[in-house]
Parts: sequence; C-alpha cells; structure tokens
Amino acid sequence: MDINIMTDRELAEIISTDKYDGELIAQADRVRRENYGTDVYLRGLIEICNVCKNDCLYCGIRRSNGHVDRYRLSREDIMNCCENGYALGFRTFVLQGGEDPYYSDGVICSIVSEIKEKYPDCAVTLSLGEKERESYAAYRAAGADRYLLRHETANEEHYARLHPEGMSLKHRKDCLFILKELGYQVGSGFMVGSPWQTAENLVEDLRFLQTLEPDMIGIGPFIPHRDTPFRDFPGGTLEQTVRMVAILRLMFPYALIPSTTALGTIHPLGREMGLKAGANVVMPNLSPVRVRKLYELYDNKICTGEEAAECRNCLENRITNAGYKVVSARGDVKKR
Ligand code: SAH
Repeated sequence: MDINIMTDRELAEIISTDKYDGELIAQADRVRRENYGTDVYLRGLIEICNVCKNDCLYCGIRRSNGHVDRYRLSREDIMNCCENGYALGFRTFVLQGGEDPYYSDGVICSIVSEIKEKYPDCAVTLSLGEKERESYAAYRAAGADRYLLRHETANEEHYARLHPEGMSLKHRKDCLFILKELGYQVGSGFMVGSPWQTAENLVEDLRFLQTLEPDMIGIGPFIPHRDTPFRDFPGGTLEQTVRMVAILRLMFPYALIPSTTALGTIHPLGREMGLKAGANVVMPNLSPVRVRKLYELYDNKICTGEEAAECRNCLENRITNAGYKVVSARGDVKKR
C-alpha cells in the first residue's frame, strides 16, 4: 500500500475505513524514524489573548460568544512566559491568539524583537491569523521565524459553512503563500470531523497541502464548544484523526507534525497515539495559569490547571513511555 500513488478515490476510501490502520500506523512510524529518529520537539505555547474580531462558527472565542471572559497578556506577561519556558528547556516560543487589533503591528514587532534579542538561540512562531502582506513582512523583519495558519478546510463550500460571510478561503490560502514567499517556515492544517466534512473534503485538504508544501502540519479533531452554533454536532474521532496523522507522515516525510492538545482532549492517551502514528512535535502550554481556562476554543480542554513545569514534565513522561525522546533543540524542518 503506497499512499503516494493513490488516486483521490483510493485515498478517500483509506480515510474512511479503519481496515488498514495497523499497517498505516506502522508504515508512518517507520518513515518518521527514518527522517527524525525518535526525536520529539517541544514548542512552548503562549496564548496571548482570547479577544477576536472573527466569528468562526466552531470556535469558542468567536466574537459573538458573550460568555467569554476576555483577556490580553501584556508584553511583561509574555516575556515572563518565555523566561519560564527557557529555563525549562524550550527553544521555540509560539505566540497564538485571536485576531485582536489591540496588538498592532508595532506591538507584535517589539515583542518579537525583544524575545529574539533575549533568546537568540530560540525560534519565534506566530499564530495570529490572517494579516496583510506588510504586517507579515514586518513581523519577519522583527525576527519571527515561523507562522502557523491552518487552512481549516480546502473546500470552498465547506469553508463557507464553517465561517461567517466575509471570511474567505481564498484570502486564507493567499496568506499562506505570502508567508512562504517571505521566508517563514509555514504551518497549515485542518480539523478532522468538522461539521459536514466528507472523506472527499479531507482528500482536498491533502491535495492542497501538496501544493503548499508546508514545513509544519497541525491537525486535531473538531470538538464542539457549548457556546457556539456547532454545540450539537458530533466531534471528530480519535481513530480518524490518528489515521490522518499517519497519512500526513507518509505524504510529508519531512514535515513537523504536532500531536495536538485537542487529540489529548478526546482520549487520555490521544497524544501518545499521535506520536506513534508519526507526529514528532508537542506544544506544552506556557500561558500563565490564571488565563489557561479562558483560552477555550473547545469544551474540556486539558492542561488548564498546571504550571508550565508540570506540563513539561508530564509530557516528557508521556513521550518517554510511548518510546520517543524529548529534545531541547529549536527543531527546524529538515530540508528536502
Ligand atoms: N486566530 C488564529 C489562531 C486560531 S486557534 C488563527 O486564525 O489561525 C488555532 C486552531 O484551533 C484553529 O486554527 C482551529 O483549527 C482550532 N480550533 C478552533 N476551534 C476548534 C474546535 N472547536 N475544535 C477543535 N479545534 C478548534
């Protein structure tokens, strides 16, 4: 079975049946070991704000959700998270948040350059949504190394059902290509099991990623949030998400693929299963504990009570028990 020569129809079939899971996962683990050994890279996630001007129908911090207690981290808060993270061995900091105009380009740039100045051996990853080329260019000039922007779904009609009018798949895709042009290591990805998603949609996601050739690919199960229009939809399954991780590893041998918090949320050993299916990155939370619960994209998010050090230790134990090894390197993508 070779994923890389399959037709769209064959792929859709593999995506929707659990018949080949054992074989797929074993193949994916082999490919991962050939390229990255047993190394697992750490990314320290700092959730800088839960204020968002967008209204994505699946997301718990969407603008229309009036039940969210909104917060913004100050520059000092963010620098404290980095200091804490650096001492714990993190060499990548990921600044993620809602699309919040409060963080003007000037503010973002000054935070990025302060982090790079203090920690020149660290990579800075941004995940702040869709911006204009000029903004991305300014962040890059300030020292940002990587950018995460999931495309969410590569199918126009499906995209339109998950997002309010005014948001467009085309704009999101344009952003991704601009980020690449600007020399970022780029990450994209999608949710598994979002409302109305079909196996054919997932094939389109894979085909889109083949044209983008991203350095990082993040996927996780869709998990309903009680205060969104999608509250009554079923979530994505563990099996299908893990299967998709394996398929991604086989299609993108060199990619950095996180085993996500969402996967750990739907099953106590979800992240371990992701690692065994080819994922080679984990993103422990470095946000201050007082805001952890407030960055709630979906219900029952895990790891909202622990200090960063506890999170890191817990993940290190999980990784070791799964048969892999935490490394404290920056963990840049290995070039093809
Ligand atoms: N504002 C940034 C960061 C978004 S949050 C941006 O636009 O990129 C990071 C990711 O969380 C999103 O890309 C989405 O794929 C995921 N997410 C949001 N709501 C979710 C939900 N209900 N279930 C699972 N994942 C969700």
